[in-house]
Order: sequence, then C-alpha cells, then structure tokens
Amino acid sequence: MKYGKDTICVQGDYRPKNGDPRVLPLYQSTTYSYDTPEQLAFLFDSPKSGHIYSRISNPTVSALENKVTMLEGGVGAMATSSGMAATTLAVMTVCEGGDNIISLSTIYGGTYNLFNVTLKKYGIECRFVTPDSTDEDIEKLIDGKTKMIFAETVANPAMVALDFDRFARICKKHKLLFVVDNTLATPCLVRPFEHGANVIVHSTTKYMDGHAAAVGGLIVDGGNFEFDQNERYKDFYTPDESYHGVKYIEEGGAAAYILKARMQYMRDLGTSMSPFNAYLTNIGLETLHLRMARHSENALAVSRALALDPNVEWVKYPGLENDKYHDIASRYFKGGYSGMVVFGVKGGRAKAEQFIKNLKLIKQVTHIADVRSCVLHPASTTHRQLSDSDLVACGITDNLVRLSVGIENKEDIINDVLSALSAL
Ligand code: PLP
Repeated sequence: MKYGKDTICVQGDYRPKNGDPRVLPLYQSTTYSYDTPEQLAFLFDSPKSGHIYSRISNPTVSALENKVTMLEGGVGAMATSSGMAATTLAVMTVCEGGDNIISLSTIYGGTYNLFNVTLKKYGIECRFVTPDSTDEDIEKLIDGKTKMIFAETVANPAMVALDFDRFARICKKHKLLFVVDNTLATPCLVRPFEHGANVIVHSTTKYMDGHAAAVGGLIVDGGNFEFDQNERYKDFYTPDESYHGVKYIEEGGAAAYILKARMQYMRDLGTSMSPFNAYLTNIGLETLHLRMARHSENALAVSRALALDPNVEWVKYPGLENDKYHDIASRYFKGGYSGMVVFGVKGGRAKAEQFIKNLKLIKQVTHIADVRSCVLHPASTTHRQLSDSDLVACGITDNLVRLSVGIENKEDIINDVLSALSAL
C-alpha cells in the first residue's frame, strides 16, 4: 500500500503488532544481544539484516531513516549527529585527498567553511561557482578528479532557489553525483530526486525537528546513480579491503552509496545520531506537513508586509512574485516556499542590529526553522569568521537580517516586525 506524504509524516513505516506501544519506542541501548557467535558473525557479513552496535544502527534511528527515505522517495538513509556531519560524510563517501567537488558559493556559512577551509586540509578541493555562472564556466572546472556538484534547494541565507534542471543536466553529461542540501525546503515542499538529485543531505535540526530540541542530520540515497564502471567511483565496484573485500554495488545494489557511507565512514568516524534525538526528531516529523504549510503562509504574509515598509531596502523571499528566484522556485516548490525571509534594513549594520534589539515577540537565536519566529544578523554572528569577499560570495550584506518565520499568528509576527522597524 502506497500512502500519501502526510500519512508518511505521521506514521512512517512503524506498524505496531498486537500489544506493541503505539508510539515509536525509544531504544536507548548501545548494544544488541544474540544467542550464538554464528548469528553475530552473520550480521558482520550482512550488516543490513540486523543491529550490531548503535554507532552503526539502532531501531529508533532506523525508523527515522526509513520515514525520511519514504518522504524523499529514496532507497535508504543514514542519520548523523548533525547536519554538518551529514554533509561531511556525504563528501567523504566519494572523495579522497586529490579529489575535488564543485559547489555553489551561496550555501550555509558552516558548509562554506567546511568546503573552503577544512576539507582543503585533507586534500579535497572545492571549486566554487555562483548562481550566475554559465554552464560553460561550470563545465570548465570539471576534470577527472571531480566527484560531485553540491547546492542547497534554497540557500541559507542568500535565498537563491536552485535551478535543479540546469545542474542535473551538467551532472548527467559528466556522469557526476548531484548532491543537494534540502534542509530549508524539506520533502514536504520540494523532492530533489524528482529533479535529478542523486543524494540529499539534511540538517534535521531545522524543520524536521522543528521544536529546537535535537541537533541531527541525515543523508538520503536516491539509488538513481550508476556507479558501476564509472572510473571516478571505482571504490564502489572494487573490493574494500577494510571491510573484508566487500564490493558496495554488489552488497548494496541501488543503495550502494548509503551502505558505503555507513559501513566505511560511520564505522570509522562515528558521527551517529543518538536514539533520543531520533525519537524527538520523529515526533517533530509527525507534524512537518502541517508546519511547512503554515511556515510558508506566514512567511509570504511577512515578506509582503516588509516589502511595503519604508525602513526596508530590499526583501528576498522566493514566494514574492517579483523575487529574482520566484520563477525558478515555482518550478520545484509545491505547497509553499518555506519559512525563511531575508531583508536589508535601511541605514546599514547599526540599524539592522537596532531592529533586532527592538523586537519583543521574536527572539534572536542562532537557529532557523523553529515553530517560534526567530531572527539573526548573520554578518556579526554565523558568518563572522568569513572574510569580506567570502561574505559577498555567500550573498551576505552587513544590513541583512535573517528572519525565520514561525507558526504563531501571522498578525502578531507582522506587528512585532513593523513596530521594531518604525522605532528605528
Ligand atoms: N545545512 C543548512 C542549510 C543549514 O542551515 C545548516 C545549519 O544551519 C546546516 C546544514 C548544518 O546543520 P547542523 O547545524 O545541524 O550541523
């Protein structure tokens, strides 16, 4: 039986048997007990058939992975300790020292730093492109060591909506993996696999949890990439000596990527999601469809009010008809444009900071995608480690305010925002 997206959000694939708990149980256990050494040995050979140790898998975490796999329409998923861990592992699963990746520069500042500084120290180079780069500009950067193109569905906080068709076309032409961070849209609004993505990463810390209760991440495998005999990805069809000679495409089939991520990199780096965080995130997911609709409705109303305010220099929200990315976003977003709005306060950094101080209902936090509306000045906080040129690359100006619109009454949110602006 194939269920709709809302039913999957609520129930996933957890089906209690007679007398079982109705709510997905929290299995707060690191280990699993087996009667014979042969049974455990079998699991080491066939890790998909049971749980061995919670660094590798856990029943509560698996239920969350299955739910998101179903929502995204993939073939498997792996939960991680954070969104940053998900992106790191997503890259490491295909890259080693000497390889390179291509990424849009308009991405979350933490990811930008990971690509621009940290991975570079391990010999993985990131070649950045901008949303305005031509196909030719991008294709010039691709060589035999290029392993993926990375982008966000809608960039945090530059609000650039991804032109999936264009990047999917380039990836297909060069037989490259297309990896998309779908954190801000969630599968309730955009389903990247339907538009050519091969791997999706999430910070579940954001809308999936939605209650600012649990840090986490996820990698989802689309099962739609041909690794076999593609010279760039020979680790997928040659034996992994560190795992008794397994060939990932033989063992994992369509889910080879996520099997390799788990058996090689989760095994060695151990950035697993805790069962308790999976339990909390699953409860969040039960209402994701309702929340995304309401976040979107409220954000559109707030962005329209901001666009009319004399203290506002510009507003970026892909749901606004005159937004630069409205047409692109409208091709892929279904049922709303998510909850984040960014705008420039007239008068520069000082006025932007004063606006934040003037707010009463909306609190300043280093977070987005919470049920509670929240605000931040990225140039002085999340992006303060970036140089001026890096700030420009990420699409950030010093008067930019990032507003994550919550699910309170929209009139109250608008009131708070407009009062704080008029008090400037
Ligand atoms: N991706 C996006 C789009 C984000 O906004 C964030 C964090 O804000 C991350 C990834 C990193 O996620 P986490 O904070 O869970 O490590």
